[in-house]
Amino acid sequence: MSGIPQAIGELIQEFSRLPGIGKKTAQRLAYYVLDMELEEALGLAKAIVHAKETIRYCDICMNLTETSPCSICSDVKRDETKILVVEQPRDVLALERMREYRGKYHVLHGHISPMEGIGPDEIRIQELLKRVDTEPLEEIILATNPTVEGEATAMYLARLLKPLGVHTTRIAHGIPVGGDLEFADEVTLSKALENRRDM
Ligand SMILES: [Zn+2]
Repeated sequence: MSGIPQAIGELIQEFSRLPGIGKKTAQRLAYYVLDMELEEALGLAKAIVHAKETIRYCDICMNLTETSPCSICSDVKRDETKILVVEQPRDVLALERMREYRGKYHVLHGHISPMEGIGPDEIRIQELLKRVDTEPLEEIILATNPTVEGEATAMYLARLLKPLGVHTTRIAHGIPVGGDLEFADEVTLSKALENRRDM
């Protein structure tokens, strides 16, 4: 970028990599950081590094955690016969806010999308299949987003799980088509879960 000191250009570049951040917003954030007190800016940088260094995937459910197994997987009060499958860790947050579901989770970290070059091996499907062998499961609830990719992923999983003899269900569509699970309100989420159907 001409006329801008290199360090500022780099900062703008880094911000513009973030999802939903366009060029203009990246510039605004970069100049905001430069206006911060040094201590504040260091706090931000340290929080990023600390999170990156301490957060890992839970060996069982693949959710983000500081210790593995995570607090949900190691909670003996939760129903170990149910696994609710979601695309992202933030979906677990949304469902936990509802305080109704008491089973376990599995985080896929994405969805199948031939358009984006994401195949079944790029997301955490193998880890889910392994759990079918080792856990006393009675039901797997597919709660991928009601988008084209989310539906395709649910169909793919249902086809894999059926021959393994696990009862597989799909959450209902109180959630708007094309919408994201994480933005659904608690009532909608709770209804979607309640009205799940067989796959
Ligand atoms: Zn876990």
